[in-house]
Amino acid sequence: MKSLIINEIFYSIQGETSRSGLPTYFIRLTGCPLRCAYCDTGYAFNAGSKMSFEEILSKLNRDTTKYITITGGEPLSQKNVQSLMKELCDLNYSVSLETSNAITIEDVDSRVSIILDIKTPGSRESDKNLISNYSKLKKSDELKFVICNQKDFEWAVDYIKINNLSSICPIVFSPSYNQMPLSELADLILKNSLNVRLQTQLHKTIWGEVNGK
Ligand code: SF4
Repeated sequence: MKSLIINEIFYSIQGETSRSGLPTYFIRLTGCPLRCAYCDTGYAFNAGSKMSFEEILSKLNRDTTKYITITGGEPLSQKNVQSLMKELCDLNYSVSLETSNAITIEDVDSRVSIILDIKTPGSRESDKNLISNYSKLKKSDELKFVICNQKDFEWAVDYIKINNLSSICPIVFSPSYNQMPLSELADLILKNSLNVRLQTQLHKTIWGEVNGK
C-alpha cells in the first residue's frame, strides 16, 4: 500500500494564488531540500508521520470542499505524491500543487494546477531554479515570486523578460512577510506597469503570523 510522510492535513482558507479565499484542504508533506531565508514552514523539514493513501483520503470529505492544496516543505521530494495527486483528481477534487522550482514538474498530472515558486536572490536559493520547468507549464498554472526588497523586484522583472514568462501563465508577486510592505510592492508594480497580480497572504491577515498557516 502506498504511503507518504505527512506533516499535517488541515482545512482552512486558501490565502494565496487565484484560489485565494476559497475553503481548502491542505496536505502538507514533510521534507524540503531548500532552506529559504524567509521560510515560515521550517517545522515541516523533518516532523511528520507515515500515512497510507487510505488514511489520507479518510481525512477529506468531498462535500466539505473540492479544493485541495498539496504543499510542504517541498512536496515533490516524495515520489509517491504523484500517485496521490492522480488519485485525488480521479476523485474529482480540484488539486493545486505548491512547489519550489527546484525539482522537475514533468511527472505532475496535467489536471493539477501548479504554483511554481521561482526563487529570488532574497531567498538565497535562486541558484536552485530549474529553467527546464518553464516549458512544462500550462495556461492554468501560476508563477509566483516572493519579493524581499527592491533588488528582488528588479531581478524578477528582468527574469520574466529574459525567460519570456509573461506568455506562459499568470504571474503573482507576493511581498515577503515582515520584509517588504505590501504598499511598497503595489507602488513598484504600478510604477513599472507590470502585468502581474499583487498577492498578500490572506490567511495571515485573518489569523496573524503564528496561526495563519
Ligand atoms: S521551498 Fe518552501 S518549505 Fe522549502 S525552505 Fe523554501 S520556503 Fe521553506
